[in-house]
Amino acid sequence: MKIFLLSLLTVTTIWADAHIFVYHRFGDSRHPSTNTSIEELRKEFDYFKQNGYEVVPLSKLVETIKKKESVPDNWVVLTIDDNYKSFYQNGLSVFKEYGYPFSLFVYVGAVDKKYSDFTTWEELKEIGKYGSLEFHSYGHEHMTQISDEQIRQDFEKGLNLFEKNLGIKPKYFSYPYGEFNERVKEISKNYGFEAIVNQNTGAIAHFSDPYDLDRCALVGETNLQKYLKYKALDAQWIEPKEYPKDDILLHVKVKFNNPTKHGGVYLSGHGYRDVAVINNELNVKMDKKLTQERSRIMVSSGNKISTKLLIKDTYGTH
Ligand SMILES: [Zn+2]
Repeated sequence: MKIFLLSLLTVTTIWADAHIFVYHRFGDSRHPSTNTSIEELRKEFDYFKQNGYEVVPLSKLVETIKKKESVPDNWVVLTIDDNYKSFYQNGLSVFKEYGYPFSLFVYVGAVDKKYSDFTTWEELKEIGKYGSLEFHSYGHEHMTQISDEQIRQDFEKGLNLFEKNLGIKPKYFSYPYGEFNERVKEISKNYGFEAIVNQNTGAIAHFSDPYDLDRCALVGETNLQKYLKYKALDAQWIEPKEYPKDDILLHVKVKFNNPTKHGGVYLSGHGYRDVAVINNELNVKMDKKLTQERSRIMVSSGNKISTKLLIKDTYGTH
């Protein structure tokens, strides 16, 4: 039965919901874990072109979700975190050549302090002619590890400098390191962003939360075709909502909004297991000690997934 389902998926699922991808460095072999070679970038762009994908601006996807309109299966959105010099020097010309829009999330402190590995304000203005410039914090802190007041100061300093130097207000925010929890998310939402993107593997559909949009990372050896097969799972997380206080994850409880009988749970450090879904509710006793302060739970039904990132809030404990 399982083999039958899997083969059915590979045959029928050419397109599956929209996907947002995130890149970091381009053609910079000094940092293989965050780099995309120019050869790989062209391969991915050719794949989009040859297989009917449409690369759309992030704004088009966000507007569609906000209107709760259905999201075309062939939409792809390209984003870049950290305005590394290598995007300006190596990546930008490829985006221009293919005519693909993008959103670049700016680490403002690196520009302000003139770090040599990052773009200048002038280079950002040039980049802004071809894509949108967005916000990625001032100090690139692990936001779950600093106080509410420190998070607010970071936003205020960074947004002021962004607007002063670029003459525009950013519409979107991406969390430094993709790290957030409910506390960080609630503070971030106060700064007038139209959407916030994370760095959890997933896909985007009309029911996706604009303030919690999943992005698949395209770095190093890429899983592009695997990512493109994922669909968004329409589900509500009941438990856990946060990193458990004593590091013990007792249950995973998720309500599926569509009729479902079988599901799966993946927990980083502990692996995957199949589970029965009863009355459209997945309710699994885990009783697992989390071994990483950054743990990931993925709940699935076929190729539909929903990811919850659990980050230990260490502010006040260090
Ligand atoms: Zn970053």
